[in-house]
Amino acid sequence: MISIVPFGVIPKELVEFLREELAYRFGEAVHVAGAEPLPEGAFDPKRDQYRSSLFLRRLEAERQETDRPETERRIGIVDADLYNPESDIVLGEADPVDRVAVVSVACLHPASKERLDEDPLFRVRVLKEAVHELGHTYQLDHCDNPKCVMDRSDALTDLDRKSADFCLAHQATLKRR
Ligand SMILES: [Zn+2]
Repeated sequence: MISIVPFGVIPKELVEFLREELAYRFGEAVHVAGAEPLPEGAFDPKRDQYRSSLFLRRLEAERQETDRPETERRIGIVDADLYNPESDIVLGEADPVDRVAVVSVACLHPASKERLDEDPLFRVRVLKEAVHELGHTYQLDHCDNPKCVMDRSDALTDLDRKSADFCLAHQATLKRR
């Protein structure tokens, strides 16, 4: 099972869109957890950003408390800037061993006046990032196919170029796991 964990205020429509799309793409039941406050201590006032690792640790602690932690995956969604020691801007990060991931939607906002949850470009960016990070929790590696969702994307231009789908090779690998 995959659980989506909204940290702070995330539009309900966006979460519901993710729930349906992730269930379809991974062939798993997807559950939406109740919204949680951002982890205490995650905020770094010097950088005005949040440490991504604290979100992953929180999700891992929650995963261990579920009825069947061995089959559970958790993905957090947060509307705040994240960083880690390797990167000043983190769109998403996964821990393949602990099967948890976090996606920041803060950098995915397009320059649009539409309501965020109704903006198709924003929704698709969030979906691609979520599928990519969850893919890592299935031990999928980065892909050389520029259209595959597992293609590495550190910038928005990379994210917009690739699709939200797995290439045939990655689809086959996912089916086996
Ligand atoms: Zn691929």
